Amino acid sequence: MSENSSAFSLQPPVSSVASSGIIVQKYGGTSVANPERIKHVARRLLETQQEGNSVVGVVSAMSGVTDGLIQLSKQISTTPTSREMDVLLATGEQTSMALTAMAIEALGGKAVSLTGAQAGIVTNELHTKAKIHHITPQQIEKHLKQGKVVIVAGFQGETEEGEITTLGRGGSDLTAIALASALGADACQILTDVDGVYTCDPRIVPKAQKIEVISYDEMLEMAGSGSKVMQSRSVEFAKKYSVSFEVCNSFNTQPGTIVKEESPCMEQVVVRGISVERNQAKVTITNVPDRPGCAARIFGAIAEAQLNIDVIVQDVSANGTTNISFTLYRDDLEKIGTMLDCVAQEIGAGAVRKEGGIGKLSVVGIGMRTHSGVAAKLFEALARGGVNIQMISTSEIKIAVIVDEADVVLAAQLAHTAFGLDRS
Ligand code: ASP
Ligand code: MG
Repeated sequence: MSENSSAFSLQPPVSSVASSGIIVQKYGGTSVANPERIKHVARRLLETQQEGNSVVGVVSAMSGVTDGLIQLSKQISTTPTSREMDVLLATGEQTSMALTAMAIEALGGKAVSLTGAQAGIVTNELHTKAKIHHITPQQIEKHLKQGKVVIVAGFQGETEEGEITTLGRGGSDLTAIALASALGADACQILTDVDGVYTCDPRIVPKAQKIEVISYDEMLEMAGSGSKVMQSRSVEFAKKYSVSFEVCNSFNTQPGTIVKEESPCMEQVVVRGISVERNQAKVTITNVPDRPGCAARIFGAIAEAQLNIDVIVQDVSANGTTNISFTLYRDDLEKIGTMLDCVAQEIGAGAVRKEGGIGKLSVVGIGMRTHSGVAAKLFEALARGGVNIQMISTSEIKIAVIVDEADVVLAAQLAHTAFGLDRS
């Protein structure tokens, strides 16, 4: 079971495994933020066990702890090695795993906490964003057989050489999904501080509603377009190994959102959700000579500066020149500095215009593959509200538009209504 190659034998898909009664529950940082909440998580894990399950709890660091450790390291060194960063950051999850196990025992239950290494999570050597190579969960299985609730530290593993590694920010999600796969678990729940995945951020669209079922691809597009409920890598992993899971609220017992393989009936919904990204910026290079190599020169310079860009649009050329625009995070705008002015001069292009205050709206749904007129419906809805579209980008299951940041809330509300997503 490996994240990035097919050279390893795959675990059987979770759904095809005969009922083993194993459930993996991951609790995020806000769910273990203080002693009271840790006790609440302990009760919930015990209840799940009392319902007849073998229970594995994966815990994140208490909220703010990982950020705090990063801040602390900055006060010591501006250039810490990534190896030592991993040793440091892994302590966050180690604190919460021990406290959670203690809380279960204080309630009279049986529990044991395991580090990523003890849980058998073996990764490659890429410190701070290591990839899982394979998992040998014998220790977990042994403790489960003894009737213990097994608490595993999220976000960490070890290399073949025994070095501590971490799996990238938000990596506890990946720990849970990968363990569910390796254990052939019957269920995997990602418990967080929201009720599930919403059709849009309820702070932006008050009529947004909880999505009952969403496909891996839709979840990935939503996450990639700003709806950060889970670490994207963990959803990719779940897709690759067919691990279906539920995102639900650790503070109540309502059903959450099921994330799973798509089925034909899921295509009946054209738009599953809408995501919004603010704090974007747009750069336009005018009068770029229309000849091979110019785009390569521009984007080569951007890549060298390690800037992440998003939507790219090149106009149809007129009189031998064209305009090229792209978007990026507004915070990255200043990193561009005068770099592009130099490139523009060198290739004989015109002015470089930079604008902050840009937003992106994406409508996502696998139903788009089989339904036509989605783009028209979106553009009509925006036109009715007087929202001007600056750029458009599409994928098989997504249409994204770049608009003025000031218009983004109105645009989301209009689209949400137009696609019938409003809660009645
Ligand atoms: N504690 C880690 C982080 O804050 C991992 C996680 O919470 O999933 O990124
Ligand atoms: Mg998290």
